[in-house]
Amino acid sequence: MTPAPNVYDAEPIPEAARAEVERLLQSGDLFRYTAPEDAPVSLLERDFAEMMGAKYALAVASCSAALFLSLKALDLPRGARVLIPAFTFAAVPSAVVHADCQPVLVEVAENYRIDMADFEAKLDDTIDAVLISHMRGHTSDMDAILKLADARGVPVIEDAAHSLGTLWHGEKIGTLGKIGCYSFQSYKMVNAGEGGMLITDDPDLIARAIIMSGAYEHNWKKHPVVQDRFGHWQNKLPLYNTRLSNLAAAVIRPQLAELPRRVRDGLANHDYVAGLLNGSAWLSVPDPLPPETRAPDSIQFNLVGFDTDAQARAFQDEAKARGISVQVFGLSQDNARAFWNWQFIGDQPDLPQTRAMLMRACDVRLPARLTRPELDFIAEALIGAATAVMDPPRAYGT
Ligand SMILES: *Cc1c(COP(=O)(O)O)cnc(C)c1O
Repeated sequence: MTPAPNVYDAEPIPEAARAEVERLLQSGDLFRYTAPEDAPVSLLERDFAEMMGAKYALAVASCSAALFLSLKALDLPRGARVLIPAFTFAAVPSAVVHADCQPVLVEVAENYRIDMADFEAKLDDTIDAVLISHMRGHTSDMDAILKLADARGVPVIEDAAHSLGTLWHGEKIGTLGKIGCYSFQSYKMVNAGEGGMLITDDPDLIARAIIMSGAYEHNWKKHPVVQDRFGHWQNKLPLYNTRLSNLAAAVIRPQLAELPRRVRDGLANHDYVAGLLNGSAWLSVPDPLPPETRAPDSIQFNLVGFDTDAQARAFQDEAKARGISVQVFGLSQDNARAFWNWQFIGDQPDLPQTRAMLMRACDVRLPARLTRPELDFIAEALIGAATAVMDPPRAYGT
């Protein structure tokens, strides 16, 4: 029998990174502001902005840091109310709280996308910013979101941590709103262990973000952008020191060239497994919205007709017995993607729609490097587990 595929290991880092890492280790030049110019972090910012077609990019320690700096760069008043989807990672409401703002949660539908009726109802005069988290790379209706936010003059930040390579009407996710933020944590499309990026076309936003990221004294002179803006902000903004190290940049840069392959293979793998799972009466993979071209490295699906949590737990156990770990978002204790565990944001009204979705939505990693036999193994394990719970073979004679 084929052994269960390992879905946790990342791909090896491209060979090209090794020489650069070795050079940095030799020289000890790990700080982005030591070299007079062309430090690995600066070159990464240049390449990333060019790849995304954005005017400006700022590399930082994590996507969480990028989200925090985005809110700070917008100069929102203390206590500002920020709309976020209720289905996201705890780091997102955490970044909002860290920026002295108050998250306001919006319902998310069975297809993992923002419920637009609830979004429209909650986008009232009390909302100062919108932070759209494209959770697991699922894109909500950005046309409607941008239109509603524009009509009210409310800025939109895109949390594209897990959406690098995703398109909406052919445009890159993270370039649609005022600011886009990405992650280079190991479970994302580009892996440096940790790291993040912020992009924008707004010269004042980038100037403010650069200074607050830790371009203390005149280190902003090493950012070859918006030089005329920095003088105005010098010494007027706090320095949060959340910079990226040259080592991380050296690991990230050569992976940018791998992105088209990872996106292509990840999507093909996802759609292949989705086709198989949708053949089961008990499993359903929601379709993307028509304008979206996905870049997935995992698959999410709903359990259909599972009336009790016990049945959903039994499905997890049956899949595990077949070698595949499935997470039902709402069923594991203290899950960081279940909004009821975000006690640090204070009281929020219950969100029955999102809650119901989280109790039946499953998550399985599906890295781009998997082979067809491995994908078949995963699909068979999941379908077999669902069948074992919902339609167990009857004992002979009964
Ligand atoms: C991973 C992730 C984050 C956090 O990224 P870090 O770089 O680990 O801070 C935020 N939002 C989403 C949707 C993510 O997937």
